[in-house]
Amino acid sequence: MVREAIVVGSGAGGATAAKELQGAFQVTVLEAGREFRRLSWTLPTLERVRKSGLLLDEREIQAILPAMRIHKTPDMVLVNGIGTGGTTTLSTGNALRMDRDLRAIGIDLDVEFQEIEREIPISTAHQARWRPHTRRLFEICQEMGMEPRPTPKMGEYERCVGCGRCVLGCPQGVKWDSRRFLQQAVDRGARLIQGCRVERVTIEGGRATGVVARQGWRRRTYRADRIILAAGGLATPVILQNSGIPCESRLFVDPVLCVAARWDGALQCREVPMPFVVQRNGYIVSPYFDYLSFFFNRRWVRPARDTLALMIKLADEEQGTISRRELRKTLTDRDRQRLGEAVELCTDILRRFGIQAQDLTLGTVNAGHPGGMLPLTADEATTMHAKRLPADLYVADATLLPHSMGNPPILTIVALAKRVSRVCAQ
Ligand SMILES: Cc1cc2nc3c(=O)[nH]c(=O)nc-3n(C[C@H](O)[C@H](O)[C@H](O)COP(=O)(O)OP(=O)(O)OC[C@H]3O[C@@H](n4cnc5c(N)ncnc54)[C@H](O)[C@@H]3O)c2cc1C
Ligand code: SF4
Repeated sequence: MVREAIVVGSGAGGATAAKELQGAFQVTVLEAGREFRRLSWTLPTLERVRKSGLLLDEREIQAILPAMRIHKTPDMVLVNGIGTGGTTTLSTGNALRMDRDLRAIGIDLDVEFQEIEREIPISTAHQARWRPHTRRLFEICQEMGMEPRPTPKMGEYERCVGCGRCVLGCPQGVKWDSRRFLQQAVDRGARLIQGCRVERVTIEGGRATGVVARQGWRRRTYRADRIILAAGGLATPVILQNSGIPCESRLFVDPVLCVAARWDGALQCREVPMPFVVQRNGYIVSPYFDYLSFFFNRRWVRPARDTLALMIKLADEEQGTISRRELRKTLTDRDRQRLGEAVELCTDILRRFGIQAQDLTLGTVNAGHPGGMLPLTADEATTMHAKRLPADLYVADATLLPHSMGNPPILTIVALAKRVSRVCAQ
């Protein structure tokens, strides 16, 4: 008899689980969003829209880029991808292995990372197209002894034209996103149902037996032998809590803050984002043109082509929560202190570049790496199954990560989802 599995979500974790499980199971992927559509407007059009004054609130971005969803808290703007490919469609393609915290609790993902190397093209080929200001910033970071590294990227970056539009959707099909895994699952027989928002898991006699999902006005129950939740760090905890399974108030999000300056003809908006990365204690620094601040931050008044910015991405304290009714996530004192240190460092780098401190502007704090509300523990290193979950229910997304990384998590989530799938298929 063919066993059935439901995978909820088609982002980094969900698409991986669907690809790994199809065959051992007949997989059905339930995806809340629709087909991803990139934003095709040209930069001059985007500048005109910005100047029109119509862009008042970050949540409006959904009108022009439907896959990008925004939640707001008093301290920050949270960015999330809804649709096939999840948040990976909005990513900048960075591919860093970040499993130190998982290894610390006894989860060795070497085999999975080796598989990933065979399945996803990863390179630093974009380096050949760096603009002079990026090369200079790289040299400055080297001179400061900060060991900058060209960022490994997922995709065929020898074809990258450096248009700088990664977060709006790659027009060249260069950047890898999880739709490639999803397609492989579908080619092997998996079923994909879009516009299907899972609300809760049905549990009978201590086992998960299916999910209740909303499609338009209709509610429907899907039954299966295994359920794999991969709706992302903001949605998976809500589905779990709706199903009577508590989560931990350990939401992290990796807040981002950009330090920007006017630099005539910088053209950073037309270059691969995050071309290199500097690792610091608790944060990273990387050159980045911040579209959200460019659109919505009133202080961010410079023309796109004349803006040069450094991004700080912080490993925030694991304090915060989301439920059906509320989202609580603030910057703690430690977060603010680390952000302050990082701003000072960026100011120093930009000063050495030739920019005066008084000419710098800070962007909007935004964050796009939610996770951590059902963190794996050492006791679960073999089962990959939290004790509070009923039998036959697994989680395979950023919700499992024990700590914030302040670093790109896709590669690590893919590796984790592979391991969860392996255990779940046994
Ligand atoms: C602008 C931006 C750039 C980024 N760049 C990088 C990068 O370069 N490298 C990197 O490693 N990381 C990057 N990230 C982070 C990375 O994309 C995410 O951390 C990662 O995709 C999370 O994987 P996930 O499987 O947990 O969730 P997601 O990829 O978000 O997938 C969740 C899926 O579940 C679906 N879903 C949600 N709710 C439901 C529901 N109720 N029912 C059914 N389906 C549901 C969603 O539509 C989505 O398909 C970036 C994030 C942002 C916002
Ligand atoms: S810079 Fe442009 S071509 Fe290169 S990966 Fe990003 S969106 Fe694609």
